[in-house]
Amino acid sequence: MPLIVQKFGGTSVADSEKILAAARKAIRAQREGNQVVMVVSAMGKNTDALVELAAEISDHPPDREMDMLLATGEQVSVALMSMAVDRLGHQAISFTGAQVGIRTDNIHTQARIQSISTERMQRALDEGKIVIVAGFQGIDADYNITTLGRGGSDTTAVALAAVMNAALCEVHTDVDGVYTTDPRLAPEACMLRQVSYDEMLELASLGAGVMHSRAIEFAKKFNVPIHVRSSFSDTPGTMIVEAPEPSNRPVSGCAVIKDEALVTLTGVPDQPGTSLAVFSKIASRNVTVDMIVQNIGEHGKADISFTVLRNDLPVTLAAVEEAARELDAEGFYHEDTVGKVSVVGLGMALQSGVASRMFHALADSGINMLMITTSEIKISALVAREYAEAALRIVHRTFGLEKAPEAATTTTSTQQTGNAPQGEVARHAIDVVKRLQAMEALAIDEIVLDESQARVTLSDVPDHPGIAASVFDAIGAAGIFVDMIVQSYARGGRATISFTVPRDTLQKSEKLARRLSAKLGCGPVSSAPGVAKLSVTGIGMRSHAEVAIRMFEALARAGINVGIISTSEVRVNVVVGGDQGAAGLKALQQAFAEAQG
Ligand code: ASP
Ligand code: MG
Repeated sequence: MPLIVQKFGGTSVADSEKILAAARKAIRAQREGNQVVMVVSAMGKNTDALVELAAEISDHPPDREMDMLLATGEQVSVALMSMAVDRLGHQAISFTGAQVGIRTDNIHTQARIQSISTERMQRALDEGKIVIVAGFQGIDADYNITTLGRGGSDTTAVALAAVMNAALCEVHTDVDGVYTTDPRLAPEACMLRQVSYDEMLELASLGAGVMHSRAIEFAKKFNVPIHVRSSFSDTPGTMIVEAPEPSNRPVSGCAVIKDEALVTLTGVPDQPGTSLAVFSKIASRNVTVDMIVQNIGEHGKADISFTVLRNDLPVTLAAVEEAARELDAEGFYHEDTVGKVSVVGLGMALQSGVASRMFHALADSGINMLMITTSEIKISALVAREYAEAALRIVHRTFGLEKAPEAATTTTSTQQTGNAPQGEVARHAIDVVKRLQAMEALAIDEIVLDESQARVTLSDVPDHPGIAASVFDAIGAAGIFVDMIVQSYARGGRATISFTVPRDTLQKSEKLARRLSAKLGCGPVSSAPGVAKLSVTGIGMRSHAEVAIRMFEALARAGINVGIISTSEVRVNVVVGGDQGAAGLKALQQAFAEAQG
């Protein structure tokens, strides 16, 4: 019998009526021929209330006791939910995380799942019961109660779906689905019928905030389809899957983060090990770096820029000061009034001109871009914070996101559930063990070497709106497919723009760049006919911030200098010298050997 996991968030179980309504949904899914596991959050704002209560007692409550306290919220919900199913004449049984063996590490308030035992749940399901599990919690090796971080019930739900081999994980929430952007910032935002795991990961960290990023990482790793839908209606919501039906829209969604700060180190030696020195110092202070941009150096010196959340700026600056001293950098500066606007879409990997459309739209509105990074499915631009929200609405409109996407057929929840044929049970048992071992570990998807590209760099670019737009307009109009774009920030009003193009278009691209440079008042254009682009893609790159560092470390050890860097949620790209591609690939493969599944 197919199994589905249904997760109900806090607002979906906020009072007894809502709990009964959720119970009815589970019963209906069971009647339709599914085994049902429910994962439930604390009622309404209960977790917040518990946090406030703790704050009344102490400014620094011990983390272990916070977990002990917060886990009670979900325990209340599962008991009431089980009573609700019982009252409606069906069988149910509630469990805490510990009771179904959700083992975690011992990092209180931010624990990671290590394993889950499925027998007890399976037994209850086979007895015809609806199994109701408390979200957000687990137990460590010493039987201490742990929690998975705020919003962690999503992660519980997808993890259970993964180990139980569920056909589908339904996430019932207070929104209808995933939108093209936050409707509070752009009321014209539209609901998406389908979105890919990668797009969701890029959007989640970009501030789309619909689901816990770790839950999406799990779903991707174990290929669990997720259906995000409203708990207050029966209308289909958004399916999050590996490969959505192709659409002709290059951009699926966009997002903004308003509270970023930009830090630039200037005049660091352009040699192996520099990035490592900078970013390992920051990571050791537990700060997550967001955008990293390094552009091609001049006269043996390079600049490195990156962004962090504004709150992390003081700690970051302490780390940077140390790195600057060690590297004998010219100096460093920061800007704490910036925001980041990003567009995300699988389709942009196949269409050219997406970047120039975005740059154009911003330039036409007089919005200057301080920094640009791109990955295969994302383009991010840093702008002054005061323009960040406007920039979001502009790009939303530019890509026509206010129009409903072409109706890709969405299958609704329970009809869609696939079947695990009975004969596969034994194989499944082995499978489950394998899945558990890798539960929250970093998983590297791919390490790729691309030696088909060349680089063009425009230096001394005036720092005002419209330059990037003109450059990539012209390149696009010539039918040249631009892959990586990096614009670094320059104080004092000059920027550097680098991009990569197919090697056989280099001459044409360079000629265009020179013509534009003269017209737009930029400085000299340089190029490298053969560059090697190395990319690491994977799951958990955000929660395992060391990916970029491990990459820099491996390359530094192999004596390879990194020319350009750009990062996104699911990928880190670096460009190195054309003769160093193979050596770089080997160094990276070794460095990530154990994480590559
Ligand atoms: N109740 C927890 C929280 O509010 C977990 C969750 O809702 O996912 O963060
Ligand atoms: Mg919640």
